[in-house]
Amino acid sequence: MAVIDRETARAMDTADPLAWLRERFVHVHEWIYMDGNSLGRLPARTPAAVAGTVDDWGRRLVTGWHDWIDLPARAGDELAPLLGARPGELLACDSVTVNLYKLAGAALSDRPGAIVFDPDDFPTDRYVLAGLAAQHGRELVAIGDGLPAHTALVCLSHVNYRSGELADMARITAAAHERGALALWDLCHSAGAVPVDLEGAGADLAVGCTYKYLNAGPGAPGFLYVRREHIERLRSPIQGWFGQADQFAMGPEYRPAAGITRFLAGTPPIAGIEAVRAGAADLAEAGLPALRRKSVALTELIVALHDQRLAPLGFTLGTPREPERRGAHVSIRHPDAWRICRALIEHAGVIPDFRGPDSIRLGPAPAYTRFVDVWDAVDRLCSLVADGVHERLGDERSRVT
Ligand SMILES: *Cc1c(COP(=O)(O)O)cnc(C)c1O
Repeated sequence: MAVIDRETARAMDTADPLAWLRERFVHVHEWIYMDGNSLGRLPARTPAAVAGTVDDWGRRLVTGWHDWIDLPARAGDELAPLLGARPGELLACDSVTVNLYKLAGAALSDRPGAIVFDPDDFPTDRYVLAGLAAQHGRELVAIGDGLPAHTALVCLSHVNYRSGELADMARITAAAHERGALALWDLCHSAGAVPVDLEGAGADLAVGCTYKYLNAGPGAPGFLYVRREHIERLRSPIQGWFGQADQFAMGPEYRPAAGITRFLAGTPPIAGIEAVRAGAADLAEAGLPALRRKSVALTELIVALHDQRLAPLGFTLGTPREPERRGAHVSIRHPDAWRICRALIEHAGVIPDFRGPDSIRLGPAPAYTRFVDVWDAVDRLCSLVADGVHERLGDERSRVT
């Protein structure tokens, strides 16, 4: 294969039909940002959207709730086209962790049987499921061991947070249904970068976050999805007043609301939801098929540069080679990954992240990352490792990696 030089990457940017989208984001310094899979960039429209909410609060005070009250469902409907959902199936609310607890708990109260999970999944998912298994007296079975005959819930990530491997949602959901289980998908690493077809795949339940590829900002609320056919039967284990049928009757007993709002718990974070809407708007304009095409081209470039330049320096690829089997980030593995990651951030102006024991994740979010950014990031990585810059750093870990 011909050597990929910087001019090749620049030519790819010139030909990029999504190049315009980068200007919809705030760029304040010269960092090469490769961590859109952890915290997306700030969309240029978001400060005004959030400031509008703050202004509204100042002027309208409590009367603002007449409009704010419907925002979790309205934002959910705006996310629906990005996730292949129908209107009335999504809410923007709470954290992923809390939403996972609500939906997994609802599934376990709906049917008997084991919980199937992936021991390699993101920690919060594993911890929540372990807690629910103990609370409901259910067996927790690793997916690698196959699906037990009596399964209540199969809960998996669509894209693995460390390896970037993309699961076959339709196939696994069908297998879950054969065992009488509901399938709950965590879309944290696919929402906004990988096309998701919740309806077409037959998914029953889903959760995801908005601060990664959906660019809604640190701590912005997550989303939850319940397939229309299940809504009236399932109940949230958190019986909060926002999920109550006649909320302001303030009655003695909890009765779940008729639609998807029964999965709300308490007062929703309005400014955060406005940031979710702002983040989703630019992506909806670009469309997921175009974002995915660019994302595949970006990760293909990383894989090709890995083979040409990183493998000779002792790196291995921690992500599937076939583009249809991976999400939007690429993990490269190295025994000294932690110090290399630190050196990239502190000495090369490249921002990836580290996931133990030995992975550096390069997350070139397709909405705002240029091909030349990928090329420069790998080029700086190569120089730094060849010069042994990382070997002069200590091995102590920071609280956030
Ligand atoms: C980022 C991420 C989370 C985060 O959960 P929060 O409750 O928002 O902190 C959960 N699951 C997966 C798979 C993630 O990638």
